[in-house]
Amino acid sequence: MAVEEALGQLGERGFLTGFEKILSWARKYSLWPLPFGTACCAIEFMAAVGTHYDISRYGWEVVRFSPRQADLMIVAGTVNYKIAPALMTVYEQMLEPKWVIAMGACATCGGFYNNYSVVQGVDRIIPVDAYVPGCPPKPEALIDGIFLIKDMIEKGTKRARDAWEKGGRR
Ligand code: SF4
Repeated sequence: MAVEEALGQLGERGFLTGFEKILSWARKYSLWPLPFGTACCAIEFMAAVGTHYDISRYGWEVVRFSPRQADLMIVAGTVNYKIAPALMTVYEQMLEPKWVIAMGACATCGGFYNNYSVVQGVDRIIPVDAYVPGCPPKPEALIDGIFLIKDMIEKGTKRARDAWEKGGRR
């Protein structure tokens, strides 16, 4: 029996999929977030993990404070130049593939700290995949941001890091 014929018959009785699709399906419901919390936005992150909003419902509850066990960095708070090298080190220590969310105005663009000491957006030092607006963003907004990452994984959308590795920053 030709291979095509066998696959055709199998297709009528079951379903066929690729390994990458199975991997994406598992990955999008099992993100392990690492909160890089430096200020008030981190409190909203805690609320998102707590009982009321409960991101466990989506399989994202395994919050890790070891970068080697995390694949989703959530930068929640103001990042100044003093802490920036630590943030970059933690990011580099995370496993691949990894994604980044900039949560709140400070992480996204410096917020109202338009001064010499604050990084005016963490995408100046690490690649960012999703921006969550607000000061502070509500937990719903953060969950929406994580859904964006989930959709990226599902659709195989290129990450900001891919552009960085090719030398072009978004
Ligand atoms: S965006 Fe607003 S709530 Fe978030 S860390 Fe900055 S000042 Fe605080």
